[in-house]
Amino acid sequence: MTPTMPAEHRELLSDLSGIVCDYPNVDPEATLAFLASDASGTLDRVGTPEGRRERTGYVILLHATSWYVSARVFSKSLFASYTEVLEGFRATLDPASCSCQDGAHPEDLDSEYAVEAGVSMLAEAGRAAFAEEYGPGDEELAAFDCEGFLAELVDQAVDALREGHRRLFGDIDVSHLDARFVRDDGGIDIVAMQEAIDRSWENNTGSVALWSARRWLTGQVRNEERLGLFLCMWMGIAQTYEGLPPSYARALAAALATIDLDVSCDHPRHPWSTAEATTRSRYLAVLHLYAPEDHPDTPVPAELSAREVWECPGQYAELARTALADISGWRHMRGGEDEDWEF
Ligand SMILES: [Zn+2]
Ligand SMILES: [Zn+2]
Repeated sequence: MTPTMPAEHRELLSDLSGIVCDYPNVDPEATLAFLASDASGTLDRVGTPEGRRERTGYVILLHATSWYVSARVFSKSLFASYTEVLEGFRATLDPASCSCQDGAHPEDLDSEYAVEAGVSMLAEAGRAAFAEEYGPGDEELAAFDCEGFLAELVDQAVDALREGHRRLFGDIDVSHLDARFVRDDGGIDIVAMQEAIDRSWENNTGSVALWSARRWLTGQVRNEERLGLFLCMWMGIAQTYEGLPPSYARALAAALATIDLDVSCDHPRHPWSTAEATTRSRYLAVLHLYAPEDHPDTPVPAELSAREVWECPGQYAELARTALADISGWRHMRGGEDEDWEF
């Protein structure tokens, strides 16, 4: 009879494959929390052959999914569970026991293959099915259980988590952007900021938004620059479709909190609403405001182009509301604990 993986492991394989491919078909935060908790439940049987098989499987799985925890789920408690169980496994591993030949450790496992290997290693039947499908020899299979190999995986995963935690929750330094966005006379170069956002392949939206928010909060902004700086921050928020973590959202929310939302005006329409919802159209609208000679074309019709309509507190309030809605959308999309999103 052809060996097969137990049904619950086939389901785990399908769930984790979706996650590492970045197309989860289940709630990633809950699924990965279960994974860490199941892994932790095996720590006290590492002394048994069954426990050692499970340790191999779980270490490979935690390693393969650690990038997702570090980049896609904004949850401190998930970081804590991952780090705790990885350190628990690390304490049971003795890398000095490795007697493999050079190059015998599996390397650079493609994450989908790693997930399949990891789930397969959890139980005897899965191992047999894996051996039949991929045909590794006994020596290759033994390398998966090598404590030197597993310790390397644990160390890599713990490092990636530490770095990810800093990126998601720590203090992000964007001061290098001063050199690009502040002119010699101390003014803000709104055109340079727009050009940075326009280079969408560089993923600048998050750093431009954060730089703008910090500048706004320190008050280092001249009256004529306020609108442009605010629009750059707004675009950085609206155009970061994958969402920004609390390390960014904290400053963004603080800057938005300076806007009075409780205002009304008689304008039937504000200029920004006439720019199309594309990077290009918005870019042209802002460039025309700050460098009209170089950029005569704008999507904003002449009758809405008066500076006082641009500066209307009603428009600031409209924009702040949508930006705040985007931020709460990120929290909903990425998950995490309430206290990390209370600013
Ligand atoms: Zn080894
Ligand atoms: Zn108005």
